[in-house]
Order: sequence, then C-alpha cells, then structure tokens
Amino acid sequence: MRPILPRRRSRDFSVPAVPDYTGLIVAIRKTSLTKRRPGQPTPRGLPALRIAAPWRLQKTRGLEILELAPLLKFPWLVHGFSTRPGGISPLESEKVLNLGFMEWDTREDVLENRRLFQAALGASDFELTPLKQIHSDLIRVFPQSTANPCKGDASATNRPGLLLAIQTADCVPILLVDPKKRAVAAIHAGWRGTLARINQKAVGRMQFEFGSKPADLIAAIGPSIGPGCYEVAAEFVTKFTAQFVDAADYFDEPRSGEEPNPLQWLNMKPPGHQPPPRNVHLDLRKANRSQLVAAGLLGKNIYVSDLCTACHTNLLFSHRREGPLSGRLLATIGIRP
Ligand SMILES: [Zn+2]
Repeated sequence: MRPILPRRRSRDFSVPAVPDYTGLIVAIRKTSLTKRRPGQPTPRGLPALRIAAPWRLQKTRGLEILELAPLLKFPWLVHGFSTRPGGISPLESEKVLNLGFMEWDTREDVLENRRLFQAALGASDFELTPLKQIHSDLIRVFPQSTANPCKGDASATNRPGLLLAIQTADCVPILLVDPKKRAVAAIHAGWRGTLARINQKAVGRMQFEFGSKPADLIAAIGPSIGPGCYEVAAEFVTKFTAQFVDAADYFDEPRSGEEPNPLQWLNMKPPGHQPPPRNVHLDLRKANRSQLVAAGLLGKNIYVSDLCTACHTNLLFSHRREGPLSGRLLATIGIRP
C-alpha cells in the first residue's frame, strides 16, 4: 500500500484563481530568454517541431489535434489535446483556436472555437464539462457535479456523452483512462496542483468511484512547459522536498556549463553566509509522472509528451512566453454515447 501522505497546511493551496504558471516570483517573459542550457533551442528562432510516436498530430477541418496512439484503439473513447492553429479568435495578426475565456477574446469566439474543436474531435454531440480551475486539489465527478462551470482542477466520469476538459497554457494536462471499467479523468496540474498531489488523488478517486485498479490505468501527460523553460525561485526546492522523496530529481539549476555540481548551494553553510539562492528549473512532467507511478500506475502505461509550450508557441499557447496575450489549450476526454 502507499504510505500515508503528510497532511498539508490548508493555506498552502487555498489560493485565489490567478494564473500560477510562473509561481509568485519570476516575472513573465523573464524565463529562459537569457538563461538557457547548452543545446536548448534559441528563444527567438523557434525550434523545429517534431511529434514523436506514439503521439501524433491529426489534421482535421483546419485544426491540428494532438492524439495518443495507444488510446485510439478504444472505439468507445474520444480524446484530444487542442493546439493553436485554426479557430477564429484574432490574436495579434493571426487567427487562433483559443478555447479559454481571455480578456482579449470575446465569449462568442471562444464558444465557436469550442464548437469547431468538438466537431474536429468527432464529439459534437458530447456535453463539454469544463471546470472553473482554481489551482486546487479538488476533483469533480460527473454527473454528480452539476454546477456549471464547476470549481475544481480535475474531473472524472464513467458516463457516456460527457466531454471532460482541462484548460492549460504551460501547466500539465493529464488524461487518465481505465479501459476495464470504462472510466476517464482529466487533470490540471500546475505547480500548486502538483504539490497538492492532485494526480494521486484523482487516481484514488477513480478507485473509489469506479473500482479502477491503478495498474489498469493509462495516462497521457500532454504538452506543458518543459524543464528548460520553467525557471522558478529556489524556495520551490524546499516546497517539493518537504513533500516528495524524489524531489531532487525534479530540479536543475540554470546552467552556464561551469557548475560541476547542480544544487550545490543546498549544502552551503553557515546560515547568514550564503549568497542569495539562485533560481532553479522545475520539471513538472517528471514530478507528475513520478506521482502516477507512486499511485500504482505502470511506467509503460504513462505517456509523456515532450512538446514544450514555451518553445512551440507556433503550435501551442504559453502564458510564460506570451503573457496575457496568450490563448488557452483544452485537453479533453470522454466516453462515446
Ligand atoms: Zn521550452
């Protein structure tokens, strides 16, 4: 069995509904524009886009939907991660598929984009059940949760005809499928949700609600900000180390190539004599993958997209890279009626 999780302090995660893509410290656009690891793509020239199997980019009706091949073998399942191209929302000089209600966009355009996206998915007859995301560990089970939209950061269902949806623009979107019980879940994991173990809790909730066995579950971890682009304050190391035994694996210092010992500053003593702690890079994908393994999923059933939202703003949206003039992606999953 899993160890009993340490109780969190409630105030840690009861945060207002503000974007947490950057944490509280690092300014928008600062990240990764100046500090990059050798080998990382240059910030201005976008790196070549490569969709690696088993992921694939399905072009349908002018839209491009990222799919995971192993999920396509279930004829009763519909899933897809939206991308930027297509759509009718005017953003600077282009039209984009913005699927979240942003200040720069109109409600009508967003609703029309959502219709286009559902049509391209072949899910026009599904009821879309987006959440009012609050960077929490709240999991909503549909159809019991009827408020529209419902506050929370994960949803689950075994009811056909509902299209679960998670909005992101750097945070980690995760889809879970139980092929045996025919149940699904969609999870939003930014740093707060990750720290609050929303992933593990969603697995637990599927077990409780649907009788899902973690070893049967398949996880699709969609495009999110990559570790090379997600620079956070050093205090994040403490936050995560206090919760996760393998937290050191999630972090790396921004490197110039001269430091032989990553996280060396952790050992500096005595207090009062250290230089100010340097920022670090956080690998949210690794943290979430590790959580799913700890929850009992098999490594071979967890698929992680290596697409970085901040590196590929030609295909995706990135709050870090684009600031308020960014759109929102939707990760969706549902059971065919
Ligand atoms: Zn990147």
